[in-house]
Amino acid sequence: MPYSASPSSLLPFLRALGGLALGECCRACGRPGALVCPECADALAARPHRCPPRPGCPPTWAAGPYAGADRALLLAYKHGGARALAARSGVRLAAAVAASAPGPRPLLLVPVPARPQSVRRRGGDQTVPLARYAARELCRRGRAAAHRPLLRHRRRVADQVGLGRGERRGNLAGALEVRRGAAGGTAADPVLVDDVVTTGSTLAEAARALRAAGIRVRSAAVLAERR
Ligand SMILES: [Zn+2]
Repeated sequence: MPYSASPSSLLPFLRALGGLALGECCRACGRPGALVCPECADALAARPHRCPPRPGCPPTWAAGPYAGADRALLLAYKHGGARALAARSGVRLAAAVAASAPGPRPLLLVPVPARPQSVRRRGGDQTVPLARYAARELCRRGRAAAHRPLLRHRRRVADQVGLGRGERRGNLAGALEVRRGAAGGTAADPVLVDDVVTTGSTLAEAARALRAAGIRVRSAAVLAERR
């Protein structure tokens, strides 16, 4: 998912980037010290909430809002190259996944693929490590979970930034498909995972693509809900 931000709200992110150059610092607020300072860790304690329904989306849960420390950390992970944040973010995502799919059934976390252009620019699809760490954390808590990147883009799509709700849907319509030979072979409940939900058009397209391959998504979980 793309991001945009006002200059003032970028301050913690920029401070954190500065800290990257100077030494260890909190990636959420920029204070020198731990990767995430105790204050921000408190603010970031996963408190999953159910997002209001969005057209075509499976029931979706978010670990937090797209604001404050949640947002700063997400931006640091996406754009600051702070790979060490993947594990921490995965743990928070796991809480949203568990809230979205309660019960004992095994889960299959399916990351929503980033646009190929973004993958090339950032040197990888950053949602995949999130899914991997989230599955690992669920297993650690005693819930059977795996992750599998079932989806891929079948055509080029534009950056969603600046597009309205209808334009976003049109931009993504039919854009995803299940990788050949990837479907089948699992009895686990599929849960879509992504970093941010905004209008929900990306999650809706991912759910549609899976449905077209006979895979019924149980729910979706994201790190942050943007309203
Ligand atoms: Zn902090």
